[in-house]
Amino acid sequence: MSLSITSECINCWACAPVCPSTAILVSPEGLFSIGATACTECDGAHADPQCASICPVEGAILDAAGAPINPPGSLTGIPPEKLQAAREEIAAR
Ligand code: SF4
Ligand code: SF4
Repeated sequence: MSLSITSECINCWACAPVCPSTAILVSPEGLFSIGATACTECDGAHADPQCASICPVEGAILDAAGAPINPPGSLTGIPPEKLQAAREEIAAR
């Protein structure tokens, strides 16, 4: 099983150095992904997936089931519905 990186990723490089399995890949274009066969989900090395623990972006890293490890609001504390309302208000300006 493996985690995965979504298009929400901002290519900040925070995750790559903390991966104990050298499973985080960077394409020539600078896009990040996780090697499915190399990722161990940090089993046996850390209590939590290190990439997701350090990632500053909500929704950028999914668990093996496809659910965001840092879902909307988990890092910012902003309730998702409040953020959506703010985005709509800004878009309407
Ligand atoms: S879960 Fe662990 S092993 Fe897998 S990519 Fe993230 S840091 Fe690397
Ligand atoms: S820490 Fe998160 S945002 Fe930064 S490169 Fe890794 S997946 Fe992308």
